[in-house]
Amino acid sequence: MLDPFWLLALLPVAAASGWFAGRRDAIHRARSGENFNLSSAYFKGLNFLLNEQPDKAIEVFIKVLEVDSETVEMHLTLGNLFRRRGEIERATRIHQNLIARPNLSKAQRLQALSELAQDYFKAGLLDRAENLFQELADVPTHAHQALSHLTQIYEQEKEWDNAIEVKKRLAKYTSRNVSPEIAHYHCELAAVDLRTDRSDGAREHIREALTKDPGCIRAAIQLGEVEYREGNYRRAIDTWREIAEQDARYLGEVIDKLVECYRRLDDNSGLQGFLDHAITEHGTPRILMARVDQIVEDQGTDAAVDFLTDWLRENPSLQGLKRLVELERAQGVDDAEEAQSLRLLVAGLAEREVEYQCRQCGFSGRAMHWQCPGCKGWQTYEPIVPQYTAQQPN
Ligand SMILES: [Zn+2]
Repeated sequence: MLDPFWLLALLPVAAASGWFAGRRDAIHRARSGENFNLSSAYFKGLNFLLNEQPDKAIEVFIKVLEVDSETVEMHLTLGNLFRRRGEIERATRIHQNLIARPNLSKAQRLQALSELAQDYFKAGLLDRAENLFQELADVPTHAHQALSHLTQIYEQEKEWDNAIEVKKRLAKYTSRNVSPEIAHYHCELAAVDLRTDRSDGAREHIREALTKDPGCIRAAIQLGEVEYREGNYRRAIDTWREIAEQDARYLGEVIDKLVECYRRLDDNSGLQGFLDHAITEHGTPRILMARVDQIVEDQGTDAAVDFLTDWLRENPSLQGLKRLVELERAQGVDDAEEAQSLRLLVAGLAEREVEYQCRQCGFSGRAMHWQCPGCKGWQTYEPIVPQYTAQQPN
C-alpha cells in the first residue's frame, strides 16, 4: 500500500495527466470530427453573432479555444466581442497575450496590435492608443483605420495641429472630401486666438480655413468678428452679409453684432433695410428678435407690438409670443395674476423650443455647436428655420 504522503504528492500529477488525456481526446475528436467539429463550432458561433446573441457566441468560442488554443483568429474574434460588450479588461488581456506569442505572423501581429489599440482607445487610455495607432498609421493595410482613430483622439484632446496633419494623411485613404473638416480644425485654432485677443494669429488660421474650404461659413463668421474687434465695422458688415448669400440660416449667429456695427456707424436706414430684407428672406427667431429690438429703439413699443402681432399671426412661434407678452407688460398692460402666470408659462415653453438640430443623428438643443455633441459630425448640427404654412381664414 502506498504511503499517504505519496498519494498527496502524486495527486497534481494525476490531475494533470488526466487533463492532458482529456485534452488529447478533445483534439483527437476535433480533428476526426466525431463530436466536436472546429469549423462547425465556428459557424455556430458566427450564427449567434449574426442573430445578435453575443453571450452564446462567446460561450461557443471559449469552448473552441479549450480544444485548440492555437487559433489566433478565434482569440481575435473573442477579444473583439469582449470589447464590444464593454469588457475592456478581458479584451485587453487576450490581445496582450496574443502579442506576447513569438510565433505570430506579421499580419497577425499587426491585427492584434490594432485590436489592442482599440481596447486602449475605448478604455480612455488615449496616450497608449495614440502610440499604437501612430505605429499602425505607417502600415498601408492598417493606415485608414489608425488615422481615423487618431483624428478622434486629437479632436477629443483638442490638439488641432495634430488633427490637421493626420486628417491630411487620411485623405489619401478615403474618397470622402475631408477638406471641410480640416477647415474646421483651422477655425478651432482661430477660436483659440480670438479668445486670447490675438487677431493676427486668428486671421492667419481663418485664411487657411478658407483656402481648404472657400465656403466655410464658420471662417466667414470669424473673419467678421476680427474686423468687428478691430473697429472695421463696414468691413465686418460686408463680411457677415455674405453669410446670407452662402447659408442664411447662420445669420442668426452674428445678428446682434451686425446690428451693433450699423449702430456704431450711425447707419439707421442701412440697418432697417438690412433687417427688412433679412426677416422676409430668412425669418429665424433670432432675426425676428433683432428686428423687434430695432423697432422698439426707433419707433417705440407700440409700433413693435403691432409689428409682432401681425408677424405672429402668419408665423406663430413661442419665442415670438414670449417677446410679445414682455412688450405688452412694458406697455403697462394690466399684469394681473392670470396674465403673470400666462407670461411665465409662455416663457417656460419658449425655453424648450429647440433652435438647432443635427441632420445626421437628430440631436437638438438651444446652444450652437460646430461639432455635434451627439455624433461628433462637423457642421451637421444646424440652425432650424421654422417652416410655417400660414392658415388662410375660412
Ligand atoms: Zn449629430
